[in-house]
Amino acid sequence: MSEMQTSPICPGCESSASTPFYSVPAVPVHQVKLVQSRQAALACPKGDIGLRFCTRCGFVWNAAFDAALMSYDEHYESSQTVSPTFNRFHERLACDLIARFDLHGRTIVEVGCGQGEFVTMLAAQGGNRGFGFDKVHRGAGGSPAVTFVKDFYGPAYQHLEPDFVCCKMTLEHIHDTGAFLRSMRLAMGDRPDAVIFFMIPEITRILELRAFWDVYYEHCSYYSPGALARHFRIAGFDPIDVWCDYDDQYVLIAARPGSGHSRTLANEQPAEALAPKVRAFAGGVAADQTRWKRWLEERHRRRQKVVLWGGGTKAVAFLTTLGVGDEIAYTVDLNPKRSGTFIAGTGHAIKAPAALAADPPDAIVVMSPIYLAEIKAQLDDLGVYPAELLIIETQPDLVAA
Ligand SMILES: [Zn+2]
Repeated sequence: MSEMQTSPICPGCESSASTPFYSVPAVPVHQVKLVQSRQAALACPKGDIGLRFCTRCGFVWNAAFDAALMSYDEHYESSQTVSPTFNRFHERLACDLIARFDLHGRTIVEVGCGQGEFVTMLAAQGGNRGFGFDKVHRGAGGSPAVTFVKDFYGPAYQHLEPDFVCCKMTLEHIHDTGAFLRSMRLAMGDRPDAVIFFMIPEITRILELRAFWDVYYEHCSYYSPGALARHFRIAGFDPIDVWCDYDDQYVLIAARPGSGHSRTLANEQPAEALAPKVRAFAGGVAADQTRWKRWLEERHRRRQKVVLWGGGTKAVAFLTTLGVGDEIAYTVDLNPKRSGTFIAGTGHAIKAPAALAADPPDAIVVMSPIYLAEIKAQLDDLGVYPAELLIIETQPDLVAA
């Protein structure tokens, strides 16, 4: 891998003490846009990944990211709400937040609300008034208690005076995270009882698992609990708690608008804690990729059919970073909107799981272990029993054997 020339300045703490540690050239800039043909999938716009690590605050970001390449529009399909496992998590999270922060009869703002499932849940379950902000909201409102605004939330909406601001799976898409958090702080004003809550993917787990399929262009910013709390402090928030959930795939933080000088939390680990994992990442990934390629080539040579379960972001990153072609026959995905579309970059077809019955595979590679029980139940229903069922995240050693 040749080193890309990228700026060392950390977007969060503005230190220039950063080191480049992982790069992938020419990956699709969008992972979850619905692509309607194989040709369009192969010709999709591409950009480079060049991750840097800030040795001062512990932040990891794609310094080769070019925001001008991004366009989020109505073809953007990021909804995870077709999986029962994710829905259960989402409902539990809403319940927890309502109980913990006494969200009853309050004003709630969700930033980057997508189609508004979560803010609607918070409003309904707690008897709250909700505002959902998202440029890609399709305009269909459900509950009279929730107002959708097709705009970015910021200081122009200070008059809403929210008691609770939540922002899930958004900060990782933002390159200038420092400016974004400062804008949130300004929008909330000096209302010390208000709470801000964020949830995003967690980087320590990605580094430890050498999960190269969790590094993709749309995600330009990556946080550990420590780095996230530090960036909130820099923006003038006082973190109340920072923790992990959803099989430790996500890091969550709750904070209040304050001075940024409250006492350090127990799991706010220093940047040095992440440094050895950062240094080991690129080498570990290269070794894993060699094993994956060998495993796929062997089955291809024996004319065995391998199918990937998952047509979302992880699948796109796995297939494009590995450079997989015919070794994988097709992918399946639970989201009916993805069925009949194609994987950006490689052009693999995305089918509904029912397609497995007509075209049964010899091996299925599952992207995420959290869905395994769900997937096994579906395969049972379909009467599909592949000789091999691999979970990509937990079985790299099996591939080595
Ligand atoms: Zn930094």
